[in-house]
Amino acid sequence: NLDLGYHKTKTPGEMVERIDGDIETLSNFFARFAVDLASNGILMLGIIILLYREDWRIGLVLTLFVLGALGFLNWLRKIPVPLIAQAREQAAKFFGFVGEQLQGTEDVRANGAAPYVMRRFYQRMQEWYPIQVRSGLWGFSMWPATEALFFIATLLLFIVGAWLWQKGALTVGAIYLVWSYTERLREPLEQMRTQLQELQRAAASIGRLHGILNIKSRLADDGKGALPTGALAVVFDKVSFAYEGDDLAIADLSFALKPGQTLGLLGRTGSGKSTLARLLLRFFDVTEGEVRLAGAPLDSVPLRHLRSRVGLVTQEVQLFAATVRQNLTFFDPSIPDERILAVLAELGLNDWLAALPNGLETELASGGGLSAGEGQLLALGRLFLADPGLVILDEASSRLDPATEARLEQALTKLLAGRTAIIIAHRLATVQRADRILILERGRKLEEGDREALAADPDSRFASLLRTGLAEVLA
Ligand code: ATP
Ligand code: MG
Repeated sequence: NLDLGYHKTKTPGEMVERIDGDIETLSNFFARFAVDLASNGILMLGIIILLYREDWRIGLVLTLFVLGALGFLNWLRKIPVPLIAQAREQAAKFFGFVGEQLQGTEDVRANGAAPYVMRRFYQRMQEWYPIQVRSGLWGFSMWPATEALFFIATLLLFIVGAWLWQKGALTVGAIYLVWSYTERLREPLEQMRTQLQELQRAAASIGRLHGILNIKSRLADDGKGALPTGALAVVFDKVSFAYEGDDLAIADLSFALKPGQTLGLLGRTGSGKSTLARLLLRFFDVTEGEVRLAGAPLDSVPLRHLRSRVGLVTQEVQLFAATVRQNLTFFDPSIPDERILAVLAELGLNDWLAALPNGLETELASGGGLSAGEGQLLALGRLFLADPGLVILDEASSRLDPATEARLEQALTKLLAGRTAIIIAHRLATVQRADRILILERGRKLEEGDREALAADPDSRFASLLRTGLAEVLA
């Protein structure tokens, strides 16, 4: 449920380690703690009662000893909790790093960066290791502490015993009996120590989990409205947005799009095009101004509803290690085969599907194992099935071969019929289908207008872009 801003600051590996690792520690703890604590408590109580039966003074001394020992161990256990939390955090960072590097293996190897990655790997290890050692040593300190406590207990026992024996209150045999009872206290106390050590780790985990549960999404989701079916009108009303700090990624931007119109969005790299798309899906909330769909401010409708009515194809299409069908339907089993097949036919992917060994049930490898063009066509298929009222395409800037491009164009024509669309265009062909053109520069509107009017006006930026060729100017 958290906003994308949060997810961009944490690597997936870090999140997994943080959630899974900490919960694992906690569940191990709770699975045994209650049972062990109860049984050891009963055992201790029994031994102490027997000691009182022998002699109340001995009983009293050892009761005080047990209470003192438990109190001391409990105090000792709290000391390393922050250290353990630190160690767990380092572990999470470390696994976040490993996950990120593994995911980037292709780029890392291609750039000959493996030695650098390995060096950072060792650096991370070196940061983690001392904390791990210190927190481990503190946890381990409970063992010598219990040993010392037992030494004191035995000493106390013999002193009190000797005194009582001199007074003739106890026989040597009775003292031996008491001593052997005391030795029996050792086992439950040791077990309690282990449990307290577990409690140390659990306490650190609870703290960290509490931290996660307390993170609130920056997106309020209390809208109750609904968007109409069919094409949606889009309005940006003096919108400004900054990811962090004061650097505006979108600055004072206003434009309107009627239902069914297609907007061609142009601009150099980093001019804020993808950012504009993210605002429409409410991955982030605007800093100032308002975005409205069909007249309704974005935060007046529930997030789920909004995202079911607005479809986005990002620059890098993500395919999952699952079947073709699951990749198309996003794991929604209720979509019937006929619809999926119809969509694939519309996309001109029939031949491709026929060539797959198991048709729709063919497993795609993790990362897809598809070409960039095929990936984009599949992503369009997803949109078809979701049937949104506003389509946003963040075109990949990579070139497609003419055949794939032609298929993509055909598919687009069908997809855009009866929908409003914003196309972040890198190719001339996509610009040609736009009704309106918006050119961004550093988040500001540089030019906006009807495509045909702009193309006809020799002084417009758009006309000069067309003359020089989009790719050369926008790259
Ligand atoms: P491209 O054509 O290369 O895809 P773009 O127009 O889509 O570029 P955006 O991705 O919208 O550009 O980025 C606009 C600005 O916002 C850039 O200066 C970028 O550095 C910044 N930016 C993008 N994403 C983030 C983020 N998650 N956190 C902080 N700043 C960001
Ligand atoms: Mg972009």
